[in-house]
Amino acid sequence: MVKVTLIPGDGIGPEVTNAARLVATATGVDIDWEVVDAGERAIQAGGTPLPDSVLDSIRRNRLALKGPITTPIGGGFRSVNVSLRQQLDLYASVRPARAIAGEGTRFPETDLIVVREATEGLYSGVEHWVDRDHSAAETVNVITRKASDRIVRFAFELAKREKRRKVTAVHKANIMKTTGALFQTAFREMAAKYTDIPAEERLVDNMAMQLVKRPSEYDVIVTTNLFGDILSDLCAGLAGGLGIAPGALYGESIAVFEPVHGSAPKYAGQDKANPVAEILCLELLLRHMGKTEAADRVWRAVWETIAEKKVVTYDLALPGYTDRPVAPSGCLAMAKEIARKVPLVDLSRPMPKATAAKAAGALDASLET
Ligand code: NAD
Repeated sequence: MVKVTLIPGDGIGPEVTNAARLVATATGVDIDWEVVDAGERAIQAGGTPLPDSVLDSIRRNRLALKGPITTPIGGGFRSVNVSLRQQLDLYASVRPARAIAGEGTRFPETDLIVVREATEGLYSGVEHWVDRDHSAAETVNVITRKASDRIVRFAFELAKREKRRKVTAVHKANIMKTTGALFQTAFREMAAKYTDIPAEERLVDNMAMQLVKRPSEYDVIVTTNLFGDILSDLCAGLAGGLGIAPGALYGESIAVFEPVHGSAPKYAGQDKANPVAEILCLELLLRHMGKTEAADRVWRAVWETIAEKKVVTYDLALPGYTDRPVAPSGCLAMAKEIARKVPLVDLSRPMPKATAAKAAGALDASLET
């Protein structure tokens, strides 16, 4: 039995983590979930959003599955997500953006990985008001050679391990001539050590445009904290939306799996949220544990459920995102359908090809409403 820390989180977090646990049970992998609270529930229980008991549990188990946690906007407590990454030195945020069954996307072939430095940059928490009137403010963009070296090395190692085509570094070194150039230099020097893997650079603004026009030209993207946060949501959108986008945070010996999406407070407690992103976090966790067959079963069951489109949540049933009318199902029903399929899927059959992109006209129509 493997002990794994489970943080249900805020908003839709408890529903989607519950969904992932249901699917985990269906895989037959023996996981002992150690449930701990961070975020709003932890504040209610003990007054602090990130209790030491949460950090201790993750340090002890070295594996965690996490739901999203709400961060107050503009004031209130510091982001639990950012603190967690910094305190556990979870420096590599890895966000695969994989289209599933060609649904919800114009780009059914999308298969990108964003590797984002997660401990420094503009999220370092070094910020202050410049004057008493609060008429000017500064946020410091901390970029170190050490953190840049290890994130670019991580990206090249990942590309090598997964036989990816190339690594693209994204920065803004033309304007940010110290921080950008430091990251750029780290990338160039690391690229020179991985001569088998093509390496290139893009300025972040150009990259955003290139990605929405020709995502298939890119593969592994490595970048700093803020750019990675933004581009990984963009890539999630290319692949079919936040509802299907998982993520992983890696340190030297700890791995925490969490979806790209947030706590979506407006859907909390309504059994409406798409559980797939959290279920695919479970898939990544299983792969990390070496449970490859179980992970393959989860991926395939998700794929087939989305391709069938009989039991899918509202975001996969939107008009324009499907060529036939679908009544949306709830979070729990979709999770149960995926769990039901897990032991039944036939892994010896070749993976069905993603259906062609939905007619662009249909998508455009849905966007106008
Ligand atoms: P969000 O991801 O919660 O929501 C963005 C949009 O996507 C909303 O329309 C939402 O309803 C929809 N959405 C998100 N997840 C969905 C799902 N599983 N199924 C269907 N629809 C889904 O982003 P936000 O509104 O900017 O943030 C809400 C809160 O979450 C904020 O407090 C933010 O700080 C926090 N957040 C946490 C994390 C994390 O824990 N890692 C990540 C991002 C945002």
